[in-house]
Amino acid sequence: MIESVSLSCPTCHGRGCRECNQTGTFTITRCPFSDLTPETVELLSVARDARNGAWPVAGGTLDQTPACRDGVRLVESLRASHLADLATEGGRSSD
Ligand SMILES: [Zn+2]
Repeated sequence: MIESVSLSCPTCHGRGCRECNQTGTFTITRCPFSDLTPETVELLSVARDARNGAWPVAGGTLDQTPACRDGVRLVESLRASHLADLATEGGRSSD
């Protein structure tokens, strides 16, 4: 069983900043999902299903409620930004 994991700070990428108390890392000691509200977990699930073509309401994007579309767009935007950061970080490690 893993008891904790240390990750490079996503804000400063290990250089040290206010977010990470100048350490450059975050130590995760429990499941990050335990900090999410049930509504956020549900939104992440809906966004994942939508990404795979399965929206909550039968039909396409325009058949969903505006709140659903907005939520999925937000999740996908944050996901794309995170994936871009990971790609940049991966490129940096090969320097
Ligand atoms: Zn930092």
